[in-house]
Amino acid sequence: MLWASRHISVALPDDGGHSVKELVAIMHLFRTDFISFDPTGGCLMNRFLLTSAFLLAAVPAAFAAEPTAKPVVWPQLPPKAAASNVKLVEPHLHVNRAGKGAPRIALTFDACMGKTDPRILSTLVDHHIPATIFVTARWLRSNPETLAVFLAHPDIFELEDHGQNHIPAVDIPMAVYGIPAAGSPQAVAQEVKGGADAMIAAGIPQPHWFRGATAKYSLSAIAQIRGMGYRIAGYSVNGDSGSLLPAKMVEKQYASAKDGDVIISHINQPTHAAGEGVAASILALKAKGVQFVRLQDIPEQGDDDTTN
Ligand SMILES: [Zn+2]
Repeated sequence: MLWASRHISVALPDDGGHSVKELVAIMHLFRTDFISFDPTGGCLMNRFLLTSAFLLAAVPAAFAAEPTAKPVVWPQLPPKAAASNVKLVEPHLHVNRAGKGAPRIALTFDACMGKTDPRILSTLVDHHIPATIFVTARWLRSNPETLAVFLAHPDIFELEDHGQNHIPAVDIPMAVYGIPAAGSPQAVAQEVKGGADAMIAAGIPQPHWFRGATAKYSLSAIAQIRGMGYRIAGYSVNGDSGSLLPAKMVEKQYASAKDGDVIISHINQPTHAAGEGVAASILALKAKGVQFVRLQDIPEQGDDDTTN
């Protein structure tokens, strides 16, 4: 007997009710026996991890008896955005490689809304592991205790701008993963500036990096935000897929990180299994001798004109 496991990451445009119907259809299609789905979950990339296990018969004759077995067909999904002519990008970001010696990795965490994951926070503080945290004005309002911890450890934490209200930085009316985008240059500017203003009012130094909700942008919004004086923080390894991955999958993602990678995860979902995987993964990288850096510490390269 042979088991073949298949992991499929599907980006769905809507984290609302009707996506559940689509998921059921996909589960049926892939004979899925596991599904990770949280409509109120992480801030970005509401990707649904489907894990299908297919039992393959050891005897070829078993298949020969079923010549009409249906081929797997990729499900028809609705377009990612209503404004189909607009190209959205999800930029990559790397920090300069260390080259010889210990690999260099930048840990970045989004604090979109909601609360704080103490598993991740205590791991970073207790082991003195530098990280860059992207906070929204919305998250700052409800997490003053965590903010105090961040501010008490400026040698560990770099704080950067994740926006005012966690609205995708896209200057055209559309929805990104079901979240209405800013929709105009004025609203993009407000999202960026509103986030920075709240940070400064909370005693945080002026941010120099911006990462928008969903990590997707229109190219014109990127140019606009760059014009406001910010670099835009993409990433190169998706650590937790919007805090939706099971802990073991998070560990696999982190373990794949190489010299120069920028990992994105979430520090605002204390009830999710992903956070357990993040905490364990950080320690695993540390045990491998990784040199952790913050975005402010090391030169970087981002694509889609996000940094240069
Ligand atoms: Zn977010």
